[in-house]
Amino acid sequence: MQLPLTGSCQCRAVRYRCTAAPSSIYACHCTECQRQSGSAFGMSILMPREAFSFTQGAPRTWTRSSDSGRMIDCMFCPDCGTRIVHLPQHSPGLAIIRAGTLDDTRSVKLAGHIWTASRQPWFEVPAGSIAYERQPPDFARLIEAYAAIADRPD
Ligand SMILES: [Zn+2]
Ligand SMILES: [Zn+2]
Repeated sequence: MQLPLTGSCQCRAVRYRCTAAPSSIYACHCTECQRQSGSAFGMSILMPREAFSFTQGAPRTWTRSSDSGRMIDCMFCPDCGTRIVHLPQHSPGLAIIRAGTLDDTRSVKLAGHIWTASRQPWFEVPAGSIAYERQPPDFARLIEAYAAIADRPD
């Protein structure tokens, strides 16, 4: 991926940039991601928080609690409603970006799938892919697997 990574909400009022490569990218099939995206799953980019910044617009924050009771700040465009990034309060070094908001999504490669227990029944996890039925205990395996595929030509 060419740095910096840039992206925006659907109306383009809110823009951001990332000065680091993703640590990992994965699909989340939890029902919160299904509801938030209006789709079968969400795609999340793990990014060091210091590498993420908004460059335009005034995003708003809505805070929700996760299954484990931890609080997550969810930032979105107040005009078009596009969710841009999740900032878990318990992991201040981490930003989780919605991958579909990138200006160029062609280089998004998935390292694995989480919350497959609530995946759509027609979705089959690709053979050999990392999969967790629920929240992984940590992201180590997803980070390792992403490093192996990140720079591989398609
Ligand atoms: Zn917008
Ligand atoms: Zn999710």
